[in-house]
Amino acid sequence: MVFAEGQTSAGAPDRVVVRGAREHNLRGVDVDIPRNALVAFTGVSGSGKSSLAFGTLYAEAQRRYFESVAPYARRLMNQVSPPDVDSVEGLPPAVALPQQRGGGSARSTVGSTSTIANVVRMLFSRVGEYPAGAPMLLAEDFSANTVQGACPNCHGLGRVYEVPESLMVPDASVSIRDGAIAAWPTAWHGKQLRDSLVSLGYDIDIPWREVPAEQRSWLLHTTEKPQVPVYTGRTPAQVRAAVAAGDEPSYMSTFVGVKRYVLDTFANSKSERMREKAAAFMESVVCPDCRGTRLKPDALAVTFEGHDITQIAAMPLRELATLMNTVLGPEWERSRGAVLAPEQVLAARRLAGELGARLAPLSDLGLGYLSLDRQTGTLSGGELQRLRLANQLLAGLFGVVFVLDEPSAGLHPADTEALLGILRGLRDRGNTVFYVEHSLDVIREADWIVDIGPGAGASGGRIVYSGDLDGLKGAEESVTRRYLFDSPDSPRPTIRAPRPRDQRVALDGVVRNNIRGLSVEFPLGCLTAVTGVSGSGKTTLVNQALPDLLRASLSSEVGETTAADEPERGDPMLAVEAAATQGRAVGPADRLKRIVQVSQAPIGRTSRSNVATYTGLFDRIRSLFASTDEARRRRYSASRFSFNLPSGRCPTCKGEGTMEVELLFLPTVQAPCSTCGGRRYNAETLEVEFEGSSIADVLDMSVTAAREKFAGRADVLQHLDALADVGLGYVSLGQPAPELSGGEAQRVKLAAELRRAQQGDTLYLLDEPTSGLHPADSDRLLGHLHDLVDLGNTVILVEHDMRVVAGADWVVDMGPGAGDEGGEIVAQGTPKEVAAVEGSATSAYLRAAVV
Ligand code: ADP
Ligand code: ADP
Ligand code: ZN
Ligand code: ZN
Repeated sequence: MVFAEGQTSAGAPDRVVVRGAREHNLRGVDVDIPRNALVAFTGVSGSGKSSLAFGTLYAEAQRRYFESVAPYARRLMNQVSPPDVDSVEGLPPAVALPQQRGGGSARSTVGSTSTIANVVRMLFSRVGEYPAGAPMLLAEDFSANTVQGACPNCHGLGRVYEVPESLMVPDASVSIRDGAIAAWPTAWHGKQLRDSLVSLGYDIDIPWREVPAEQRSWLLHTTEKPQVPVYTGRTPAQVRAAVAAGDEPSYMSTFVGVKRYVLDTFANSKSERMREKAAAFMESVVCPDCRGTRLKPDALAVTFEGHDITQIAAMPLRELATLMNTVLGPEWERSRGAVLAPEQVLAARRLAGELGARLAPLSDLGLGYLSLDRQTGTLSGGELQRLRLANQLLAGLFGVVFVLDEPSAGLHPADTEALLGILRGLRDRGNTVFYVEHSLDVIREADWIVDIGPGAGASGGRIVYSGDLDGLKGAEESVTRRYLFDSPDSPRPTIRAPRPRDQRVALDGVVRNNIRGLSVEFPLGCLTAVTGVSGSGKTTLVNQALPDLLRASLSSEVGETTAADEPERGDPMLAVEAAATQGRAVGPADRLKRIVQVSQAPIGRTSRSNVATYTGLFDRIRSLFASTDEARRRRYSASRFSFNLPSGRCPTCKGEGTMEVELLFLPTVQAPCSTCGGRRYNAETLEVEFEGSSIADVLDMSVTAAREKFAGRADVLQHLDALADVGLGYVSLGQPAPELSGGEAQRVKLAAELRRAQQGDTLYLLDEPTSGLHPADSDRLLGHLHDLVDLGNTVILVEHDMRVVAGADWVVDMGPGAGDEGGEIVAQGTPKEVAAVEGSATSAYLRAAVV
């Protein structure tokens, strides 16, 4: 058989041909990209990689997909503007796996996202061991998220609220009149309740502990709300006499028991402060019926191989895979086959096989330490992306293009090798894999490299090189080339001298997640990198244990976080439970005045918060607009230029810029607002311009463009420079917070922090700050972090990039493995010392990076 040139055996074109791509900063890009290959898109941050891979190629594939759906839906989709490109040929259907955290509901877990939970429930329903006489349950009966499966006592919450006596009455030596009942309201309402007690025959002047037990119990726990006569301005003896004589009372009062008062206030008060106050007297305890598992007792009574379903859900996936393997073995059939009906044995083998097949890619992607019950909200962006990738692997697609955003994010070099194996597998099955990537090791494995740049924003947007790895050597202009082929110069050759013992903060007896009784030290005034395979416990140590334990040892006035990291307001009971690290901090922690945790958690959950509003930059810009002649003439104040306030915003979308469109049989889509076209403001507000730009124009500008625009405005520029310094020159000022990746969100917070007065004696905790950064940008960021250390601060970061680790003063390597096989310190010392340690998953990779 003979194929025409440019065709593969399947008759499909062998390349994707892009002509005239002008999305964002792309300057009429023409490029031919092979199909059936691993293609890396490289270049400094803001060079245009995402604009090409996601903004052009993926967007175009998606547009074609929508063209093929029903005309009614298409009409709506068409409102989403197609990418700015002359033509794209040879493009297969695309699947994008961006890094954004899926908002997801609190109940979304690894098990539900991967749909593995469904198979497990089926397994329990069909082949579980039931107590004698118990009826067979349906798969739904094993889900706490269904009415038939949820524990009836706690309604599937796993916890019930209690109001313990020790909290209602903290000091039993005090009398009721003197305030023994701390949970009761103060002021007038409190007095009324106490007066009612006198009418009810209580002696409120004796210590609480001397009040008769049955009186105490009734007053605390009664759920009745009796009407009680109240006599004001009389002594207790006079009141008793008045009650006995049936005198006309001053007024009638409704008595409420203490517990009832606390629970009612918590459930019904409109005042956030009142609810918080009530919460202080409540404890949520594990539901006694379901032991916190949220599942009804009938379902919990069913087991498989000795485990109930919640135990299966809590098992590391790797272990679960081993268990399923056992079920498939001949040994199992011999022992269990005797008790089970033949069709049950068959079902067990089929379901175990199915589970094994679904678990394998998760383990291969380095996620074997996760469990089915892990909430997806607690996963990092990289873990979530790999979870989605695993789901795609199962779908068994071929002939499609996968578009990935820095798949190596959050991966130790050892895990990265497994990831590459998976990507090659996708390719070999007939797919194309496009990935935006910064990790040099992952770039080296690509069949084809598209290097974009050479610089960011207006200085980028061109194809610097497109071809195989070897050819990139000749691309003089490429910044990536320098890092791939030139001798690796460590970002910072001089290492600070290791500090003596008394200059270290130490944690002792740390227990949290997979860390069980760990002792660890961190030198003050140094930059420390915490390394280890994914799941070894780095985040647990740096993001949870360190801040929890150090904050507990700092006095409350000095221990401070950035506003950015205030825990989210929500159910006050949950917030209390979250801080559950055991252990203590020892050593000169008093040398630390502040702890600043700069995490990858989103900076906001709604599209109303963005980079400009978060950093305070937008306030400055709005003042500038209010100071223009036109604004003064119209008497527009700064608030007119907020899209959150009625005067300036678009009335149709209330400043959202988008409207929700309900589609029959399809998920709801967001379409640009028909009135303002996505600009968020009303027409009058947009008429006011600052040097030729409206407020909406400014929100559309990248940080880089805004720096030129506001060059003469020192106060605005200061904010913009801080953003550019952390490699965020390419983000637009109005970029909605939920659209930022974890790494970008972290760098926005870092920028806000770097701009503050640097007072020294501050501990900065960071989570892989270089994720999403080209080596050139990460060197710049590292430079700023080292500046912080030179000012007398301490920096501790989780890191995978061995170039960065090699430039740290101190390394703490965790492991040896993930999950239960991790949680320990494998090695600690200077980078050179750790590189020399045998038996560390990190040392071999670090050795290659230390010069
Ligand atoms: P990279 O992926 O290489 O980091 P991007 O493709 O995200 O870079 O950005 C390239 C340029 O396009 C930057 O100058 C950036 O400011 C600009 N840009 C990115 N997204 C948008 C957008 N939604 N609107 C306007 N400009 C954008
Ligand atoms: P790393 O940062 O090294 O990748 P983590 O500290 O995130 O590792 O995780 C260490 C272990 O703790 C893993 O087994 C992980 O599943 C578990 N773990 C982490 N966070 C949570 C959590 N919020 N709830 C339950 N287990 C968790
Ligand atoms: Zn329960
Ligand atoms: Zn609008």
